[in-house]
Amino acid sequence: MIATAFDVEAIRKEFPILHQQVNGKPLVYFDNAATSQKPKSVIDALSAYYNHDNSNIHRGIHTLAERATASFELTREKVRDFINAGEAEEIIFTKGTTEGINLVASSFGRKFIKEGDEIIISALEHHSNIVPWQLLCEEKGCVLKVIPINKKGEIIFEEYLTLLSEKTKLVSVNHVSNSLGTINPVEEIIAAAHQAGAKVLIDGAQAAPHLDIDVQQLNCDFYVLSAHKVYGPTGTGVLFGKREVLEMMPPYQGGGEMIKEVHFSGTTFNDIPYKFEAGTPNIGEVIAFKEALEFVDRVGKENIAAYEDELLKYATDLLQDVEGFIPVGTADKKASVISFLIDGIHPFDLGQLLDAKGIAVRTGHHCTQPLMDFYEIEGTVRASFSIYNTKQEIKYFVESLKSIIKMLK
Ligand code: PLP
Repeated sequence: MIATAFDVEAIRKEFPILHQQVNGKPLVYFDNAATSQKPKSVIDALSAYYNHDNSNIHRGIHTLAERATASFELTREKVRDFINAGEAEEIIFTKGTTEGINLVASSFGRKFIKEGDEIIISALEHHSNIVPWQLLCEEKGCVLKVIPINKKGEIIFEEYLTLLSEKTKLVSVNHVSNSLGTINPVEEIIAAAHQAGAKVLIDGAQAAPHLDIDVQQLNCDFYVLSAHKVYGPTGTGVLFGKREVLEMMPPYQGGGEMIKEVHFSGTTFNDIPYKFEAGTPNIGEVIAFKEALEFVDRVGKENIAAYEDELLKYATDLLQDVEGFIPVGTADKKASVISFLIDGIHPFDLGQLLDAKGIAVRTGHHCTQPLMDFYEIEGTVRASFSIYNTKQEIKYFVESLKSIIKMLK
């Protein structure tokens, strides 16, 4: 049974964008893995900031600057609570997951990874957790190793263990795969990496909207996420790092805010988190992100997980009936993402024809081309569900698919 501690219709009312027609049909938004929609409280907070408080933070002593700074720092505390970090100073604001990973590659990577060292990622990674490491390996002469997966789209854990050695300096894997929805056994991955003496980065871009995250329990060294996938604004994200690791790392970018003193004879750097926050950040968006996390609290992470799981099961069952349906990624533990193909029909055509019926899905390689290589396909159709989606929408989606297939065959 669906956990009915919340009312989906009431939740839908909080999302103004959902109440529109697209191509003459009610919008069905199933592209949540790309970005989630925003509740009115987030939109209002952004607008309130620009209407009332807009000011640069940390440097001003006037009232607006103090208000903006206080709100900005309140989000830092809210994020700390959201991922259960020990201290707010361990929360660094970034542009998003991509920047968080690049920050670690540039700062930690440049300082601590040398020629012949090894970095381990998995075959499930998003390009943003592949390319920064490839660039580092090119620069440093270190080696990128890839944990293989099985046909269900699950990491082969025994193979991972054989890749670990004293040469491993960093393991960087996603918590949840954006293309397949696979939930990875990150706690075990982290423990094994630590036994080998390696640090661990978890790409939580797809976990943050669906799972309860506790970085202290996970014991990861770094955890990254994007606000825009958790009902928050774009251009804002979070890098969590353990204090002792962040303090050993050199700055990522130079500029204002990240310094204590600058003289032509030399510069001293600020303490964490500011050491890693050069320049004026995305102030309004960070402030509005707090509302997004409060929305999640209001609904309840357990309710979100239970309801989305119900949607996933419902959709998976209905899709078995669709002629030529080929699921891509059938892991035992999955978030609410379904990637699939329909035999003989190009994903792009399906995406366009679904759009004509008001249904937004994603088609293509989902920024995971090596994963598509593994399945020997160019891409998939991906439907990803969020807390505001309904069974009626899924039913309409599956009926629409059937009628498109009938028309094309
Ligand atoms: N990692 C994963 C697993 C993702 O799903 C995404 C975005 O789809 C990213 C990284 C990159 O996130 P962003 O573009 O917000 O930096």
